[in-house]
Amino acid sequence: RFRISDIDKRVRTSCGYCGVGCQMDLWVRNNQVVKVRGAGADVLPNRGRLCVKGRFGYQFLGSRERLRVPLIRKKGTFCEVSWEEALDYTAQKLAEIRDESGPDSLAGLASARCTNEENYIFQKFFRAAVGTNSVDHCARLCHAPTVAGLVRAFGSGAMTNPIEDLAGADCILVTGANVSETHPVTATYIRNARDRGAQIIVIDPRKIDLIQGSTLWLRPKSGTDVAWINGLIHIILEEGLADREFIRTRTDNFVALEEAVKPFTPRVVEDISGISEKQLRQAARLYGAASKSSIVFAMGITQHITGTDNVLSLANLAMVCGQVGRASTGVNPLRGQNNVQGACDMGGLPNVFPGYQHVSDPEIRLKFETAWGRAPLAAKTGLTVMEMMNSASEGRVRGMMIMGENPMLSDPNLNHVEASLKALDFLVVQDIFMTETSALADVILPAAAFAEKEGSFTNTGRRVLRVRKAVEPPGESRADWQILTEISTRMGYPMAYKNSSQIMKEIASLTPIYGGISYERLEDENLQWPCPSQEHPGTPFLHKEQFSRGKGLFHPVDYIPPAERPDKEYPFVLSTGRLLYHYHTATMTRRSEALNDFAPSAYGEINGEDLDRLGAGEGDLLKVTSRRGEIVVPARKSDRVAPGVLFIPFHFHESPVNRLTNDALDPASKIPELKVSACRVELV
Ligand code: SF4
Repeated sequence: RFRISDIDKRVRTSCGYCGVGCQMDLWVRNNQVVKVRGAGADVLPNRGRLCVKGRFGYQFLGSRERLRVPLIRKKGTFCEVSWEEALDYTAQKLAEIRDESGPDSLAGLASARCTNEENYIFQKFFRAAVGTNSVDHCARLCHAPTVAGLVRAFGSGAMTNPIEDLAGADCILVTGANVSETHPVTATYIRNARDRGAQIIVIDPRKIDLIQGSTLWLRPKSGTDVAWINGLIHIILEEGLADREFIRTRTDNFVALEEAVKPFTPRVVEDISGISEKQLRQAARLYGAASKSSIVFAMGITQHITGTDNVLSLANLAMVCGQVGRASTGVNPLRGQNNVQGACDMGGLPNVFPGYQHVSDPEIRLKFETAWGRAPLAAKTGLTVMEMMNSASEGRVRGMMIMGENPMLSDPNLNHVEASLKALDFLVVQDIFMTETSALADVILPAAAFAEKEGSFTNTGRRVLRVRKAVEPPGESRADWQILTEISTRMGYPMAYKNSSQIMKEIASLTPIYGGISYERLEDENLQWPCPSQEHPGTPFLHKEQFSRGKGLFHPVDYIPPAERPDKEYPFVLSTGRLLYHYHTATMTRRSEALNDFAPSAYGEINGEDLDRLGAGEGDLLKVTSRRGEIVVPARKSDRVAPGVLFIPFHFHESPVNRLTNDALDPASKIPELKVSACRVELV
């Protein structure tokens, strides 16, 4: 309804939802965002395209439920207090715990929703002011295996190619990624490729929308990825589709891989995964014969106890066919949240400083000690998300700071998470709304949302993108980095920055892959890291002449079944995921009517055969029970899931499916197995 003549200004910024990082113009009138439009058709990564979340999901900014003033829990009730009181109290409590029980008694969750600059300050605060490496964030629950696996295979843990590159591929293998719902603009590039005649192979236990118009859909049983990927490699070698020259000149350890895939004959793969030999051969031929083949994956691959093995297997497949180091090829993890890539890049992880520089390396530590004026910095790897929760329940972690995350809805085995957070002596949460997590806090500090501050996000394609302030934050809320520097200063480690640009300068000076990034350059350049110097143009695709680690390394991987399999007591496989209309724990999207009207509540997607067996129908209430808890959801009859499988989206606090999910961990990356739990389903 608004025309350009009605508005006060247009502000170019980055979408605050998913990792595609769409560029958009916010139309502002009277300090309110009133309309959103995609940036121009020549602007990457989205070329003017936006999905429903980016285009219509801005109403939360003006929600009456926004946090406006700091809150302290007094005698069990949240009381409004001044910033001075809240900051003094927070700093005093954190310092008290640190001084009594040591720095490792404190831990923090950084945020994939906040800017690079805020995540940088968050980890600097924990490492320099507190003295611990116990910093992690929800990347642990999505792509920790991607980083672990791709670093080992290639030397770099990020998407090898840019998103828009997909449009030029001849074959795209999409697995464990419901792209049209979770990264909708990425799906448009896959469709562009399909319209050019590219072969699209979808390998997914759910009948996702992308299957429409794809060449081939393979439906494996959940948690059997290593088996079918080894099977593909087995056939590719058997049928002479491997790129022997690439293997000889660019890789190491091929013989071990060759041995490892020998037992994975099509018959063995069919027994394990349910994929027929005919389909497996078709997929192997399409992927192996194409000139430019690209692999796209997301959490259907990573959220398993074999998450790292699954990623290593995909890297093996791409290297066997020489499909790395060229445009429109590669291994491409789709990172979920708007700045999950950046939060990892900025060292929001317990083992690395910004730029994946390891905390155990004395030279690297010396560099940061000198720059930050604080020595010695801790050399020991800190705790991951799930380890923090376990340590809290055992009293070893006594205090936590959580910035813009909501583990009380997003983490597995919520009953355990709740008990852990309640066991803390002190919990401080920075957020824009009261969430299931902040409701358990001692102090809540109101933060600014993406449209209310300056900064940068890094999208899933390693593209560093500016975030610009369009409107004032509500009430007294502040940017997270401003809150953090105030607390740090009060704890005896002064931090003072004039603005976020100054923080980016410090990031660039200490982080080689961001060495050439500055706000000045981002004004008119589209930079993807690694960008090591002011003169460097950035790197659209990785591993061109050699891999980041030198030669690509094959890893022989064997099949390990999921931690929980259906049995007599719990005969269903439970899987969780996202919907097009909601983002993560839905604190923002459920406060945007235009989105929430389409998906207002949770449901359990169940096959008609199972519903008939239960004597139930569409909309009937189902009690779903696992070894960890129970919830009730209405049934939604659907052939998107196979018989024996139940899918529940995790966005809804009224039916929190993570009360049921398994917290068994992948030993390499410590990701929990959110995609496969055993459960029982009964008609209420
Ligand atoms: Fe935002 Fe992702 Fe949608 Fe783009 S695809 S508009 S980044 S939610």
